[in-house]
Amino acid sequence: MTVPHDDRLPFEDLGAQWRAVRPRPAGRHLDSAASSRQSHRALEAAAHHARHEAELGGYVAEGTADDLLQQGRSVLGGLVGMAAADVAFVESAQAALVALLSGWRLPAGARVACLPGEYAPNVAQLRAAGLRPQPLPVDDLGRADLEGVARLLAGDPPRFVHLTHIGSHRGLLQPAAQIAALCRDAGVPLVIDAAQSLGHVDVDLGADVVYGTSRKWLAGPRGVGMLFARPAIAAQLLPVLPEPEGVPPMRAFESGEAHVAGRIGLVVAVGEHLAAGPDRVRARLAALGRTTRELLDGVRGWRVVEPVDEPTATTTLRPPEGVDVVETRSRLLTEHGIVLTAIGPERAPGEMTGPVLRVSPHLDTAMEDLEALAAAL
Ligand SMILES: *Cc1c(COP(=O)(O)O)cnc(C)c1O
Repeated sequence: MTVPHDDRLPFEDLGAQWRAVRPRPAGRHLDSAASSRQSHRALEAAAHHARHEAELGGYVAEGTADDLLQQGRSVLGGLVGMAAADVAFVESAQAALVALLSGWRLPAGARVACLPGEYAPNVAQLRAAGLRPQPLPVDDLGRADLEGVARLLAGDPPRFVHLTHIGSHRGLLQPAAQIAALCRDAGVPLVIDAAQSLGHVDVDLGADVVYGTSRKWLAGPRGVGMLFARPAIAAQLLPVLPEPEGVPPMRAFESGEAHVAGRIGLVVAVGEHLAAGPDRVRARLAALGRTTRELLDGVRGWRVVEPVDEPTATTTLRPPEGVDVVETRSRLLTEHGIVLTAIGPERAPGEMTGPVLRVSPHLDTAMEDLEALAAAL
């Protein structure tokens, strides 16, 4: 069978390369917004470290990995325009937000501006920290309205702005660079949830704090996340235990007991991302998103939520009348080997009016995979 060539997908070499360096997928994996497929090298680096732990002892092995981990902090920091000293490895994006909020110790009742479509677990963490979420003005699609944001910041400004760069439930890209500029002018800190944007779009935007996760678009292992904070914010954070003498303050937020092998896998995955060329990766992912939307909108009555040209790889589909999204997701998996996510409105109750099916291809997705999904729907 010939794979149809399509010039709507640029950098076919990137797709072929991405596929060649990974285990063969059992089916059609279109679920990178949940968890991407790791490369052989990332898998082997983590396994190698685990073996080293058995040979040398866990703490001796960790010592031998110090330089590699520090290079990793440096490279990861570079993705968000920060330095190695601004980076803490944590266990997940959620863990990063918890670490930030517990260290910041903001007064109870302080207001935090966030999108109405904010990820529900983030809202829950803000509330658990005693903070009061306040909605950022948005348009009909849920994209921040910059004039409205400027007015909000000029009036009675919140303690900080929390912006989810790309949602979990919608492949919409927020105008984060513009919001960073508005926040800077207003002297209001900006915290970016980059769980869906690191490795997917540009995150070097001038935010004060960024956090994210390894397993989604960076294609690192599960169980690893990152918290990045500029020195001015890091200086406001009070860890439960101070960092050891001579290490940067953010290191106090790294748990002593950690999946070090996973951190090493992530460092290798980020190296591969840089070697592929982040600009080329972004261009191909955006083209995959556009192609997915063009192909799927209207198929059997499923409707694409995002604008067709949104520069992300994530597409969500509203079901036709009477079709169950959870059941569809499981039918596509068991009968067609297509891996997707069903998302219920509880994930972003401030914005979602019903469930959606999320399609999130990574670089190796071919036209053939998307056509197979359209046919299976
Ligand atoms: C996945 C996700 C998170 C949580 O990431 P974890 O690593 O699972 O904690 C946070 N925010 C958004 C927008 C996400 O998509």
